[in-house]
Amino acid sequence: MKAFQYRKFEDRAQVVEVPVPSPGPGQVLLRITAAGVCHSDLHILSSSQDDYRYGPLPLTLGHEAAGVVTAHGAGAGFYPLGTAVLVYGPWGCGMCRNCSAGEENYCTDPGGVKPPGIAVDGAIAEYLVVDNERHLIPLGDLDPVQAVALTDAGLTSYHAIKRAVSRLGAGTFAVVIGAGGLGHLAIQIIRALGASTVIAVDVAEDKLQLARHVGADHAILGDGQSAGLINRLTNGAGADAIFDFVGSEQTVTLAGDIAATYAQITIVGVGQGALPVGYRRLPFETNVRSVFWGTRSDLWEVIDLARSGRLTVSVEIHSLEDASQAYERLARGEVLGRAVIVP
Ligand code: NAD
Ligand code: ZN
Ligand code: ZN
Repeated sequence: MKAFQYRKFEDRAQVVEVPVPSPGPGQVLLRITAAGVCHSDLHILSSSQDDYRYGPLPLTLGHEAAGVVTAHGAGAGFYPLGTAVLVYGPWGCGMCRNCSAGEENYCTDPGGVKPPGIAVDGAIAEYLVVDNERHLIPLGDLDPVQAVALTDAGLTSYHAIKRAVSRLGAGTFAVVIGAGGLGHLAIQIIRALGASTVIAVDVAEDKLQLARHVGADHAILGDGQSAGLINRLTNGAGADAIFDFVGSEQTVTLAGDIAATYAQITIVGVGQGALPVGYRRLPFETNVRSVFWGTRSDLWEVIDLARSGRLTVSVEIHSLEDASQAYERLARGEVLGRAVIVP
């Protein structure tokens, strides 16, 4: 089969021919129908050998997956052959306290979470082995190409927003920093779960247009003026919920500068910026949290939200042969919404 692999440090990932993997006991083989291209993969591809902390090379990329059940390993069979599914990506041990609550994204096993495309071979390929059937969710009548980004871009945004929902009541202001793959879904999820006025911030005009299109009340350019502008838009009070899908020094500083008393700041982007927390460093009672992906039940919920028609993914489609091109476009900031690979 064809697979898009990162094979050697400081080399470009490429499409190669590899054997179709076979599912072991309890595992399932999926024929991939769609795989999403996430900005996190660019961090994998750009880390040096010294700070590389992902799966052994060669590594097939892709941690957003939709597919069809094609073979069962011994003992598997809950989903019949031919079932269309989405894949829950943060594969935990299934046994620890957090996994028992469905919070596999925070698995406490010493081996940690082992997502496909990050720790083991992933979905940008013709086939994917899924480690356990509990990591599958029926796709139903959803289109795999439209739905695949729900498994990370949707799930991560949903998880972050659900945790902050007490700050999204009527009369509140929510700010989404970075209206990309995750952010354009976050805007819609805030509208579905809350009553906030939504302000989107991005550095690209086409992303701001998308933000308005998917429901942002205001969409403003991220520059030296944005903190002042947001403080004016919020009548001087600041924003009650801030979701940072960039996470750089510049954006976490903006988040701190625009926070209201009692604000919830959620850092999702892996930009490595630091926000000092201490007495009077932030408005009183401000919470700051960073999040990783979402829980198994969150994924069922965000899929239901999409099924109800309240969540639409903006998608650009690429063939598996063109996977490199999709990543190049993402790196140059040219993708509007999510790039999706269709093998
Ligand atoms: P993306 O490239 O699709 O979107 C990023 C957006 O941020 C783009 O629209 C870009 O124009 C905008 N942007 C860049 N710099 C900005 C700035 N200074 N101010 C405002 N906007 C700016 O990326 P994505 O796939 O949506 O991922 C977003 C981030 O979230 C990445 O860092 C990714 O690694 C991370 N991520 C984290 C998790 C998690 O579990 N914590 C999960 C998925 C992705
Ligand atoms: Zn991701
Ligand atoms: Zn666990």
